[in-house]
Amino acid sequence: MRLWIRIAWLLAMFLAAGATSSLVEITPPIRGLVLADLRDTFEEVHNGHPHEAIDILATRGTPVRAVVSGTVRKLFLSKPGGDTIYQFDEMGVYCYYYAHLDGYAEGLHEGMRVEPGDVIGFVGTTGNADARTPHLHFAITELGPEKQWWKGKAVDPYPFLVDAVKRAK
Ligand SMILES: [Zn+2]
Repeated sequence: MRLWIRIAWLLAMFLAAGATSSLVEITPPIRGLVLADLRDTFEEVHNGHPHEAIDILATRGTPVRAVVSGTVRKLFLSKPGGDTIYQFDEMGVYCYYYAHLDGYAEGLHEGMRVEPGDVIGFVGTTGNADARTPHLHFAITELGPEKQWWKGKAVDPYPFLVDAVKRAK
């Protein structure tokens, strides 16, 4: 009986979290961000692909911070993204993607737990970013039941970044 209650509770939590993206509550990936730093480029087409992310301009080497508590799921070197981090939240409902990194924080590894504000990498231009325009390419995906880091439904991070900046004031 007790086991069933646990399972029902977990299922309810999972469904509640998956039902709406309004539960995405994040902290700023870069300290000191202001609203003027944010522009909604989610719908833009970049290099022939839907952007489905937000670019945040910052000086090369600026620390990039985990936006939620969770796990570093994958460190991946991709042609377009360069050095990237895929981070899952606690429940594995959403995946947070940080790209064009100049490098990873020392000791960062897959499976590592991180808390909001932890430095995980540094702003750069790896991948297909213009070397003159260091920025953080930041994306959020809603993971499917298989919880594959490379697959998910893109969610526009813009409103959540705006909330994060407002809360951080
Ligand atoms: Zn981008």
